[in-house]
Amino acid sequence: MTDRNEAHADALDTLHGALSAAVNANQRIPCRVPGHGAAWTSDAYDDRAEAAEACAPCPILDQCRDAGQFEPWGVWAGIDRSPTKRKPDNRQEISQ
Ligand code: SF4
Repeated sequence: MTDRNEAHADALDTLHGALSAAVNANQRIPCRVPGHGAAWTSDAYDDRAEAAEACAPCPILDQCRDAGQFEPWGVWAGIDRSPTKRKPDNRQEISQ
């Protein structure tokens, strides 16, 4: 296992531990609210932008940020890590 993979695995373990503790303490984790989680991994830029804002009050923001730095997709700790950061350009080329 490379250093990066090991650091990623460690960060995910820490995040999972923090998530379990928060859930056991009845803390609200925004991405775990039933019916809302899909926005964090949505293909739609606007959904992910809303998800990123919704992360703000999360009690495990720091642990999520540490784990998310290794992730190539989705919203982690208010940061959209998806490859398409910008809202798609809706203009279309007009062919005649
Ligand atoms: S900070 Fe992480 S765990 Fe918290 S709501 Fe955002 S994505 Fe979910």
